[in-house]
Amino acid sequence: MVMAGDKAMGIEIALRGPASYQLAQAALAAMQAAGVWPTPLNFELWLHVAAADAESPLSREIDALTRTGEAITEAKSEELAARFLPRGRLDEEVRDVGQHLDVQLTRVAEAITAAQKTNADYGRTLAGATREMTPEAPVAEVKRMIATLATATRKVQRDNDTLEKRLSTSTQEVQRLREHLESARRDAMTDALSNLPNRKAFDQGLARACEEAEASGAPLTLAVLDIDHFKRFNDTWGHQTGDQVIRFVASIIKKSGDPPRLPARYGGEEFALVLPGERAEAALAILDAVRVEISSRALKRRSTDEDLGAVTVSAGIAERRRGESLAALVERADAALYESKRNGRNRVTNAEAPRQSEAA
Ligand code: GH3
Ligand code: MG
Ligand code: MG
Repeated sequence: MVMAGDKAMGIEIALRGPASYQLAQAALAAMQAAGVWPTPLNFELWLHVAAADAESPLSREIDALTRTGEAITEAKSEELAARFLPRGRLDEEVRDVGQHLDVQLTRVAEAITAAQKTNADYGRTLAGATREMTPEAPVAEVKRMIATLATATRKVQRDNDTLEKRLSTSTQEVQRLREHLESARRDAMTDALSNLPNRKAFDQGLARACEEAEASGAPLTLAVLDIDHFKRFNDTWGHQTGDQVIRFVASIIKKSGDPPRLPARYGGEEFALVLPGERAEAALAILDAVRVEISSRALKRRSTDEDLGAVTVSAGIAERRRGESLAALVERADAALYESKRNGRNRVTNAEAPRQSEAA
């Protein structure tokens, strides 16, 4: 039974609910602990923290802020959201979800306030009854007090039931909105033609991989690939067949890109493969296998069954140096790719040892 004056009552009740309900409640509790208002934006941020593991960059950042006692102002939340929550064309979706969340949070807040008031009243009723319930009190008086207590208890139970139902409904709605946001976010990070992670996903993934490599001291190699003479291919066979080739190349790169590796369509006919934990020598072998597999397939035009011949790719790889910036790493991989092109294409070049490039 909920005791009068127990401020944690709402949370206590929530912890007995289903998992999703706990997630939303965990977000609310963490917001309360961090001393931030449950605005839709904060709720989204903290929902991310509740759903992610404690080692996620956002969780770590918020944890650090909380520990230093720095105030998490609205501006700070905006900054965190800009850095950690993917946005862009999601803005509208987020605003929409935010409005829904606003409604849900208002309802929950109202229910909590009502339940708190009822609990406080109940506490006073109990205290009054304790004072008056002396051994000398007449039986009729005791009966009256018991009736009063029973009525008050029923009201507390009713209010707590209402709060529990509201929390449950809100949690389901929040969960639904979360799934909706998740799928919109996935779409915004995926390239529609090749189904590979897109440039945005690549930028974020590479940044994260670099941070992790810097922290752990593990190696990290970046590879960039570009289809050879693709313009000529497009001119000869048309853009649609060109698209088919992009999909084919993507499918081969994807096969070598299981997590934690990150394959991506970097640009038009340019791809990237982030290889956490790999040194340049191992990466060279991985990329060369990709190169050989691509060049060894005889392609056919889907619409007419004509032979298209083979497609080749050139690649450049660069192993990250300690402390190296993201831009510098990408630049070195690009320069190695350029070397591959310059030396006749259909080859992989290591940025550290351009002259040891694989011959075609
Ligand atoms: P290089 O070997 O030097 O890379 O020669 P290239 O012809 O591939 O040169 P470049 O990289 O400059 O050309 C890229 C071409 O890729 C230009 C553009 O028409 C084509 N392209 C870019 N995106 C797409 C796409 O989504 N679909 C198709 N079909 N073609 C694209
Ligand atoms: Mg290109
Ligand atoms: Mg090209």
